[in-house]
Amino acid sequence: MSGVQLYEVAPASTGWALVLHGGAGGRVEELSLEEAGTYSEGLTAAYQAGAAVLAAGGSALDAVCATVERLEDDPLFNAGRGAALTSEGTAELDACVMTGDGRAGAIAASQFARNPVHAARKVLEETPAVLLIAPTAGRIADWGLRTVTPDHFTTPARQQQLRRVQEGLLAGSRHGTVGAVAVDVHGRVAAATSTGGMVNQSEGRVGDTPVVGAGTYARDGVGAISCTGEGEAFIQGVVAHDVAARVRYLGVGLAEAITGTVAAELAPRGATGGLIAVGADGAIVVAHNSPAMFAAYHDGERLVVHT
Ligand code: ASP
Repeated sequence: MSGVQLYEVAPASTGWALVLHGGAGGRVEELSLEEAGTYSEGLTAAYQAGAAVLAAGGSALDAVCATVERLEDDPLFNAGRGAALTSEGTAELDACVMTGDGRAGAIAASQFARNPVHAARKVLEETPAVLLIAPTAGRIADWGLRTVTPDHFTTPARQQQLRRVQEGLLAGSRHGTVGAVAVDVHGRVAAATSTGGMVNQSEGRVGDTPVVGAGTYARDGVGAISCTGEGEAFIQGVVAHDVAARVRYLGVGLAEAITGTVAAELAPRGATGGLIAVGADGAIVVAHNSPAMFAAYHDGERLVVHT
C-alpha cells in the first residue's frame, strides 16, 4: 500500500527476537537541543537492555519491560520522564504489558509511578484487574516500585513544547510513545507500550496505549504488536488485535497482515502512526505511514536503528 514504509527481518538463528519503537512522529528539535543524549543512543541502550535478557535465556516479558524502562527514563521520548503534557501542563501516563498466554495489565492517567511499565506489569501479576486508572502513590509503593511526585514528568523541554503547540507554532500530533515486542527462546511472546499521550491532550483523555488490542497485543503462536500514532484511530480500528487476527485467521504473514490493517483501519480514518511486530517464529516487522519512526532491531548482521 502506498504511503506505508515497511521493514522486514527474517527469523534469527538465536531463537529470540526483539524490536522496539520510540514513536512515529519524528525528531522533536526542542527536546534534542536541550538534552545531552541523542535519540540513537537512547534506542541503542534500550535495545541492549532487552537483548541482554533474551540472550541470557530470560523471558520476553522481562525483556520488553527492561527495554521500555530505559526509554521511560530517557527524557527524549514521550513516556515516563519525557512524557508529553496535557493542555493543563500536567502529565498523565499510560502503559500496558501483555504476554502471549493472554494475560494483560495496564494503567492510565498515572502520575506517581516513575516507570509506568512496571506498574502495568504489577496489575498483570498482582491484581485481578486488567486496567487501573490513576494508581495512587501508596499503591505504587505497596507494589515495591519507585514513586515520584508529578513534577518529575514536567520537564522544561516538554513545557516549552506545550507552549509552542498552544501558540500554534508547532503541530500537536507528534507520536513519541515507546514500545517493545519480543519472542524468547521458549517461543513465548510479549508486548509493552508506554506513553504520555498526545501533546496538549485534554486531562482525562486516554489513548490506545493501555487499551488491550488497540495499542498493545500479544498471543503465543501468533506474535506481539505495539503501536504508536493517533490513538483514537487505533482504538476504533482495534489495530494491534486486527493484525494478530489477520495472521491467525487468514494465515498471512506479519507484513501482509500489517499492510492490510493499515489500509483497512488507519488509512480510511486519515490517521498516521506506526507499528512494530514480532512473529512467533521470530520474524520482525517495522511499519509506519508517518514520515518517520524511531525503532531498533537486529537484522541478523548488525543493530539497525531508525532515527
Ligand atoms: N498513541 C498515543 C496516544 O494516542 C500517542 C503516541 O503514539 O504518541 O496516546
